Order: sequence, then structure tokens, then C-alpha cells
Amino acid sequence: MASLPPIVDHSRIDTPVRLVDHYGRAIRYLRLSVTDRCDFRCTYCMAEDMTFLPRKDVLSLEECLRVVRAFVTLGVDKVRLTGGEPLVRKNIVWLMEQVTALPGVRELVLTTNGSQLAKMAQEIRAAGVRRINISIDTLNAERFRAITRTGDLAKVLAGIDAALAAGFARIKLNTVMLRGVNDDEFEALVAFAIGRGIDISFIEEMPLGDTDYVRADTFMSQDEVLPRLQARFGLVASDADSGGPARYWQVPGSATQVGFISPHSHNFCDRCNRVRVTATGDLFPCLGQNDMLPLLPLLRDPASGDDALQAAIRHSMGIKPLGHDFDVQRPTPKVVRFMSVTGG
Ligand code: SAM
Ligand code: SF4
Repeated sequence: MASLPPIVDHSRIDTPVRLVDHYGRAIRYLRLSVTDRCDFRCTYCMAEDMTFLPRKDVLSLEECLRVVRAFVTLGVDKVRLTGGEPLVRKNIVWLMEQVTALPGVRELVLTTNGSQLAKMAQEIRAAGVRRINISIDTLNAERFRAITRTGDLAKVLAGIDAALAAGFARIKLNTVMLRGVNDDEFEALVAFAIGRGIDISFIEEMPLGDTDYVRADTFMSQDEVLPRLQARFGLVASDADSGGPARYWQVPGSATQVGFISPHSHNFCDRCNRVRVTATGDLFPCLGQNDMLPLLPLLRDPASGDDALQAAIRHSMGIKPLGHDFDVQRPTPKVVRFMSVTGG
């Protein structure tokens, strides 16, 4: 493998936190959705006949960079690119290179469905991305197609192999727990991760957007799945902290950590350190609420500079709610935006 260019270590550049919300939570983490588009149509994430935004309404990559720079100036030091599928966005590697080069950025991470990784893993790693999350809910090709509606499991498996070969410091699989859909595969997925020396997180399904099935029927809690995996793998609680909501358990004798992201059963809002910006520049201080602040008018107003952008971002701290109130029993979701709109 060709040697990688050195990565600038900004970790010791300590940018003061300037974003603190009403509840005293310091915001250090931006999740930026770079597109609402995706090559998959996962049943729990978007409607089958999803209509995508006109391109003119979507932030340009230069606008994305301006948003990131404003947040970094305000003390954010971790950025995640997500979507939709971030790797279907043309020239996305350019944005990665620009963001990792920004003084103050300690870490740029990526969440992807893996479909493009076989061809892009090397350049993403070379752009300075050190950690990557790859979503995979099943190891069964037919089931994979049913969940993603359009996806090809073989491509994603090849993408995981390519990510391993590219030398990421950490690769984590993300699996949404879905009763009656993939709940017979959690042990197999953990074994798959152990075999590759990578991590895996199990996610409780969130009621975001109106699906063609009843979320209460598929919802599974950490409290049901963790004991199962503990019994099988002898998981030991770990104090590893990735700066995100996952809590981890170590698989003894392996490099693998098993995480759970459990907004329902183990609410983590009191430790929330993040905000999200959608592909249209809407700043959502909480994934699970409807409060938001549109940044696009500022970004596209020639008379408005970076000071105004930063002032708006600071102002958003005043509308950051205490937390979500997800309820899978509600017949219609409180938040009608699908996950693919806000960015997972
Ligand atoms: N397309 C990329 C991917 O699939 O990894 C990035 C965007 S996707 C919205 C980010 C993560 O959100 C994925 O791991 C996906 O499984 C998860 N997700 C989507 N909808 C969800 C929901 N309703 N509840 C819980 N997780 C969800
Ligand atoms: Fe696309 Fe990711 Fe949503 Fe699946 S979870 S539809 S891959 S954005």
C-alpha cells in the first residue's frame, strides 16, 4: 500500500468552547448532512418514493466548508459528514481534505452505507479521515435488499474490506435493531466484527418520519439485546468514550467493542455535545425535536459575513431543547423529518 501523507495533528490546539446551551452543555461536535440523496432506501430511514431536494436548495461544498469553519471558530473540534449517503455527493473528498486541514479540527469522521467504499476508501483515508462508521443491518443478501430496498450486500462487504485495507484507525459497524427483521442475526454480526477486529454498535430505532410499518412492532431495546450478547460473548463493560452517545462493552480476547446507542432505554441527552446541519443549511440543535434555525439565507446573502453566521449559530444555543421525547407508541411521529433529512 502506498504510504499515506502525514496527517496534521490539531489535537493540541485548544479552541475555547464558545457554544454553551441553556442547560450548560458545551457543544463541540457538528454533524453535517452533505446530501439528502442516497442510493439506498432503507425502510426505517426514508419513504420508498422519497422526493429529493432540487440541487439549488442544497449547500454547495464551499458553503458546507463555510459552515464548518464557523462552528470550528466557535470551539467545535469534531465534525461528522453524513446524509443521505455522503459518498454519493460529487467531490466530497475535497470537502474532507479542507475540513481536516482546518486548525482546531481534532477529528473528522464519516457515516456511510459502504456502497461506494470499495472505490473510495483509500482516498478518504488519505484525506485525513481516521474513523469511519459503516451501516449494515444483516449479512443475508436477500434480507439486505429487502431492508435497503435497492442495496447490494456484496458491494458493502467489499467496501468493508476496502476500509480495512485502507488502514483506518477505527472502523465501526452500525446496526439498527429491528424485531422480526434482523433480530436473529445480532450474534452473527458481532462474530463478523470480531473476525475483522472492528467495532459494532446496535441502535434503537427512532420514530423519525412516517414509515409504511408500525415502529412499535419493530422496536427493540438495549435491555433486551445486551443480556443476549453478554451471555454469548461474555461482554465486559468498557469506559471507552468515542465522544458520541454509544456506551461500550469489550469482547474479551478480541479487539472488538460492542456499543449501544439507546435514546429510548438509556437517554443520553444530558450529555449532548452536538448539533446538526442539514443539506439545506437548517441548523437542528436536537435530532428529535422540530426547533431549527435556517442558515441558508445568511450564507447566500452577499451583505452577510462570517460574523453574522457565527452570531446565528450562537443564537441557536437558546433553542436547544433539553432532549428528545421519542415515543414509538405514537400512531404518527412527532418529528415528520426522516433520519435521512436531518442526517444520522
Ligand atoms: N447513509 C449513511 C448510512 O446509512 O450510514 C449515513 C446516513 S444514515 C441516516 C446514518 C445512520 O442512521 C445509519 O446507521 C442508519 O442505520 C441510521 N438510521 C436511519 N434511520 C434511523 C432510525 N429511524 N432509527 C435509528 N437509526 C436510524
Ligand atoms: Fe440511505 Fe443511510 Fe438512510 Fe439507508 S440509512 S436510506 S443508506 S441514508
